[in-house]
Amino acid sequence: MELLIGETIAERVQSVLSKIRSAEERAGRSGGSVRLVAVTKTVSVDHMTEGLQAGLTILGENRVQEALPKRAALTEAPVRWHFIGHLQRRKVRSVIGLFEMIHSVDTVDLAQEIDRRAGESGHRQSVLIEVNMGNEPTKAGFHPEDVVRSVLSMAELPHIGIKGLMTIPPQTDNPDSSRPYFRKLNELAREIAAFKIPSVRMDELSMGMSNDYEVAIEEGATLVRVGTALFGARHV
Ligand SMILES: *Cc1c(COP(=O)(O)O)cnc(C)c1O
Repeated sequence: MELLIGETIAERVQSVLSKIRSAEERAGRSGGSVRLVAVTKTVSVDHMTEGLQAGLTILGENRVQEALPKRAALTEAPVRWHFIGHLQRRKVRSVIGLFEMIHSVDTVDLAQEIDRRAGESGHRQSVLIEVNMGNEPTKAGFHPEDVVRSVLSMAELPHIGIKGLMTIPPQTDNPDSSRPYFRKLNELAREIAAFKIPSVRMDELSMGMSNDYEVAIEEGATLVRVGTALFGARHV
């Protein structure tokens, strides 16, 4: 599949946004129900600025030491920052209050640390719970069979707001192979929502990357995390 459509970042932003709108329509979902998180790891501040000028509104970074200086360099632009990568406990303190959403809560221990640090600084941090849908040994995230129980225990943490689930399915060249994982994540979210816990919302499903975001939208994604299709292949 051709991931990179368009010559310039502006053209690619337009192309991805229009594919998102078409996928929403195909799936019978209302326009604007899916938000694009532009994944800017390894991307320069200049290219990020170009993307923002072309209509990007949410930037996703996966490493604290890369995200913080970029964030400092882009203070003029009206941008929302999301943290999408594995977050080490000892770095939690430096990210609280800086990211609208942390997509990648992958242990109860991490949730507790976010809760503690958010409490100290008077924040309530919105988070998503990462689920390792493929049960891959190399991947972070809760195993699907543990996630309901774990969410119920994290629901008691007063300074985090659980907003939904996130997944990175097993890597594949065929976007349709991701579909069952996306569908199952959606089902897990519905199962958790049925508990009607006041502090837990299941409004957001963060799933779908450059090669499978349209399939993810058909399966209910509300946040798609797209890097390569906007900024080109990463060389590091
Ligand atoms: C890099 C990354 C993406 C984007 O991947 P692309 O294939 O470049 O679109 C999405 N989610 C996470 C967690 C990532 O680390």
